[in-house]
Formats: sequence, structure tokens, C-alpha cells
Amino acid sequence: MQSKKYLQLTLAILKPHIVKSPFALQKIRDIIIDNNFKVVKSRRTTISREEVELFYREHKDKFFYNRLMTFMCSGPSDIYILAEHDAVVKWRQLMGPTKVYQAQYNAPDTIRGMFGLSDTRNAAHGSDSTESAEREIAIFFKEFNIKKWYNNEEIFYNLGRLHFDPISFVHTIDKNFVEMRNKPVKK
Ligand code: ADP
Ligand code: MG
Repeated sequence: MQSKKYLQLTLAILKPHIVKSPFALQKIRDIIIDNNFKVVKSRRTTISREEVELFYREHKDKFFYNRLMTFMCSGPSDIYILAEHDAVVKWRQLMGPTKVYQAQYNAPDTIRGMFGLSDTRNAAHGSDSTESAEREIAIFFKEFNIKKWYNNEEIFYNLGRLHFDPISFVHTIDKNFVEMRNKPVKK
């Protein structure tokens, strides 16, 4: 029997200098949709100091920590939960290398290659594992229950029974499809 391949979830952030630049924002959103990611949750917010301290706790002792904190809290970011097969690796490949000079020279067509301004202002974030994705989703989407999503919603995202709203930049389950599935079969 062929085993079913579940979608994976990852957390993506488009950092403040991207949200300030309509062209860059739209181009990256197009890349997300063209690469078949489903946007499960979408939120625009100025990240708080408390959130970013939790989020980047592994970098607390790095020389760039203070400038990273200041930058991440400097204006609104777009934060998305993305679903796709192998979402973690696929999104990181689309982002490209962390260091912008490497991205610009070795991977100019990646998001960081195109829109990174410096090692700090490198355009985007992507979880580095499914465990990190779970931890990061819990920071920014406190109400989102991953287990429940896999039990009740993953199938619709996997089958593409979705409605896409380009303004709020989110996919929601197509209600018609749910009603059709729940209708009792006439004998
Ligand atoms: P990634 O975002 O690719 O997972 P890291 O987890 O190593 O990379 O770093 C987290 C963030 O810290 C980076 O996205 C970048 O904004 C910033 N950063 C990383 N390395 C440097 C550096 N050498 N100088 C300045 N900022 C950095
Ligand atoms: Mg990282």
C-alpha cells in the first residue's frame, strides 16, 4: 500500500525591511505561492522584545545579538505558518544562505540573494527543523494547535481544497468541499 505523504509545517518571517518595501514583499509572496506552499496562518505584527528574546535565545551570546534584537523589533514583520511537502528544507533553499554576501555571490536568485541588505537584515527567517518549527509556531501563534491541525485540517491543505485570499495572504479551507464531504449519502 502506498503510504500517504503528510505536509510539513514551517515558520517563515519576512523581516521588517521587506514589509516596508511593497515590491520586495509582493515578489517574496509570489515565490511562496508559485512554489506551492499553502499559507496556513498569516499575521503582520511588530515583534516584541519578549518574543524575539525567546525566538532567538540560541544566539544570546553572539556578537550580533543586540543589533538583531533592535532590527527585529524595528517595525512590522510578516509571520506565516507555511505547509508543503518537506517545507522546512524547501523554504530554507528558497531563502538561500544566512550571510548576504554568500547569497549574493553564490545564490543570487534566492530570496536573501535578491533582497538581503546585510547579515542582520537578511530578508527572511525559516525554521531549521520540524522541532524548531513547533517551538517557533508556539511563540507567534499561541492558539494554533499543531496536533489538531493534523487531525482535522491537514487533509484539505494536502488535497488543495482551499480558498486563497491574496490580500490577507492566507489559504482557508473551502467550505463547499467540507459541506459536500459531510452530506449523508442518499441510498
Ligand atoms: P538562519 O536565519 O539562516 O537560521 P542563524 O540562525 O545562524 O541563521 O542566525 C539568525 C539570524 O541572526 C540571521 O537570520 C541573521 O538575521 C542574524 N545573523 C546571523 N549571523 C549574523 C552575523 N554574522 N552578523 C549579523 N547578523 C547575523
Ligand atoms: Mg536559525
